[in-house]
Amino acid sequence: MKTASSNRRTLHLLQGILCAFALTCLIARAASTTPPNILFIFSDDHAYQAISAYGDPRKLIVTPNIDRLAREGMIFHRSLVPNSICGPARACVLTGKYNHLNGFYDNSHFSFDGSQQTMPKLLQAAGYQTAMIGKWHLNSDPTGFDYWDILPGQGMYYNPAMIRMGEKIKRQGYVTDIVTDLSLDWLKRRNPSKPFLLMCQHKAPHREWAPNLKNLDWSGDRKFAEPETLFDDYAGRGAAEQLQDMTIANTFTKLDAKLQTPGGMTEAQLKLWNAYYEPRNREFLKANPQGKDLVHWRYQRYMHDYLGTVLSVDESVGRLLKYLDETGLATNTIVVYSSDQGFYLGEHGWFDKRWIFEESLRTPLIVRWPGVTPVGSANSNLVANIDFASTFLEAAHQPIPTDIQGRSLVPVLHGRTPPDWRKSFYYHYYEYPGVHKVRRHYGVVTDRYKLVHFYYSDVDYWELFDLLQDPHEMRSVYGQPAYSAVQKNLHDELKRLRTDLKVPAEDPAVLRPKPKPDPTQVQ
Ligand code: CA
Repeated sequence: MKTASSNRRTLHLLQGILCAFALTCLIARAASTTPPNILFIFSDDHAYQAISAYGDPRKLIVTPNIDRLAREGMIFHRSLVPNSICGPARACVLTGKYNHLNGFYDNSHFSFDGSQQTMPKLLQAAGYQTAMIGKWHLNSDPTGFDYWDILPGQGMYYNPAMIRMGEKIKRQGYVTDIVTDLSLDWLKRRNPSKPFLLMCQHKAPHREWAPNLKNLDWSGDRKFAEPETLFDDYAGRGAAEQLQDMTIANTFTKLDAKLQTPGGMTEAQLKLWNAYYEPRNREFLKANPQGKDLVHWRYQRYMHDYLGTVLSVDESVGRLLKYLDETGLATNTIVVYSSDQGFYLGEHGWFDKRWIFEESLRTPLIVRWPGVTPVGSANSNLVANIDFASTFLEAAHQPIPTDIQGRSLVPVLHGRTPPDWRKSFYYHYYEYPGVHKVRRHYGVVTDRYKLVHFYYSDVDYWELFDLLQDPHEMRSVYGQPAYSAVQKNLHDELKRLRTDLKVPAEDPAVLRPKPKPDPTQVQ
């Protein structure tokens, strides 16, 4: 009898173990099939050179919170944009399509058609709660979001006006803090039974690079290292590079240099502002530097202010990550940090963006997806902002519509890039005539080469760059016999890409020159 009782106990024990095992399997399976939350942190004009995880040799700034994401996730070294300018880049993120298909070619002539298919709409239809907070910059109201609270146009750094679900609100404080507070508020009051997509989009570090007043003294007046090409004379390249208007030497305004005070501050804020800038500006006016000395001074002021705004963006990332940690959301939340495009921090004497060249073409991209992205991994595949839509849809277990041009990064994030991943990338910039006078151009980019056609108005020429021999893109080798085979292959590849991507032969009618009046018809 004793043996039978013992057998029964063993049987019960085994049953218990099996039940517990089955339950664990079910929980594990449920966790792997629960759609992940998506926290998309997107800044404006954030150069990869201004993130310490990217290892810029100038060591301009330390960004511990963004670096933490890189340490715990995957950092992309060639995340590219199809059109290096604010609104068009955002339209690419939302639609997964090039601007000739989503209809938003440049910042000045277009309004985003919110009736079209977008990634937030598809996620919303799939049961996600969706929110868009901060910089929107697409001239029409957001669609596909359960909640939106946006900065009108470019937005202001201090005490910004915002539009919450169509209602104008004036807010007090520093814009990056406000966008972070609103994002956290939304996370706290969302429906916890649904997965979420939160697009937290900062204005910073966009021009005019005004730091949080509490951070004004952040650098302790240290000297920032200059880029090798600060005094580039554009020899070795064509008219477009020579005719642009985006140099620290000639284009920098008094507001850029903080020799003029931005509007919108309270008296108390202005006091803090003046306490920092006034004595330094007095010193500058007394010294009255000219020529190269003036460029040196402006570069230092530019770096202080630009990087000062980045500090707040990094703080914002830290606050958002802390909330995910504290609430246990971190384990099933994809966190993406990116920017709408890259930016010049004095390279080639420039600030701003727009070019197919590296500093403006490449944008930061760091993704942390616990259990998916190998910890501390790096990727150099050609990826782009048009890939976000497909990526988020696949992560959410949703089908990817066939008209989306970007490709899902999910296998790449697993560390398994498909063998047929893109080896070349198409670029097209349209905003000319326009601010900074960067001529229209399109081209093809590979891991080593760039073929570019400046094609509009007073310019019509090709350039070819070999990034291996010439990483700073200082001399075009177009037409050189040594590159004839490479050049031909790139022309073929460009043609193929333009056909595959359905690029129209002509720019849209609104961007074509107006016909000159016929003098014989003038009265
Ligand atoms: Ca931008």
